[in-house]
Amino acid sequence: MIYWLTAAALAWSPQQTPSGESVQWSDPLIQFHFAVDSAPSPEAVKLVREAFAEWETASNGVIQFTEGRPIARARDAEDGRNHVGFLTEWEHPSTTLAVTRLRVDSSGTIAEFDLLLQADPPGGWGEGPSEVDLASTLRHEIGHALGLGHSHIREAAMFDRVRAGERRELHADDLEGLDALYGDLQDADTQASCSHVGTFPMWWLALALVRRRRVSGIAESLHTDLSTR
Ligand SMILES: [Zn+2]
Repeated sequence: MIYWLTAAALAWSPQQTPSGESVQWSDPLIQFHFAVDSAPSPEAVKLVREAFAEWETASNGVIQFTEGRPIARARDAEDGRNHVGFLTEWEHPSTTLAVTRLRVDSSGTIAEFDLLLQADPPGGWGEGPSEVDLASTLRHEIGHALGLGHSHIREAAMFDRVRAGERRELHADDLEGLDALYGDLQDADTQASCSHVGTFPMWWLALALVRRRRVSGIAESLHTDLSTR
C-alpha cells in the first residue's frame, strides 16, 4: 500500500534488489572501459563520452566518470570492470536496443555495470525519422548504470521505450531520481567545501573514507534494457 501512496508523487523509480533495497554507488568516482573500436562511427564514440559527461554535469559533479584503458570487446561479465561497447552479435531481441547489467551487494551497493548496445539496431542509429537516437539510448542506459529504474513519464530519459525518430533529453524527473540517490553526497561535498578553513583536510579525509568503503561480495545481478517498437 505504501507504494500506491507514493506512486503519484514519484514517476522515476530506483532499481531495487529483490529484498527491496535501492541500488546506488557508494563511491561516485566511476571508471569505465570503452570498447572504442566497436563503435559504429566516430560520431558514436563522441556521443558515448558526451552522455557520461551529461550525467556528471546533471549531478553537479558528484558523479565523476573516468575512462580507463580501452578494451577490445565489451561483454556482460563479472570481472570487476565497467564495460561499455557495441555488439554486432546480439543475443537479445532485435527490438532491444541496449542492456545494462548491474552487479550489487546485499545492501544495494553497486559493484559493477556493463552497458552493451546493438552495433546496428533495426533502422540504424541516427537522427532521421526512421532511425534510433543513440544519445537518447545512452542517457537511458547510463541512468540504469547509476541505479535508476524506469519512469512512467513518457518524456523522461528513463521511460522504457523509445520510438524511431524520437529524442529524449534528461528530464526533471530523471534529475529528481538522481538527486534522491546521490543528493546526500552532494550535501556532504558542500559541507566539506564550506568548512574548509582549518578543518578541511579532516573533512576531506572523512569523506574519502566513506567513499572508499569496499563492496563485500556480489549478491545480485540486475538486468535492464531499452526497447524500440
Ligand atoms: Zn531501461
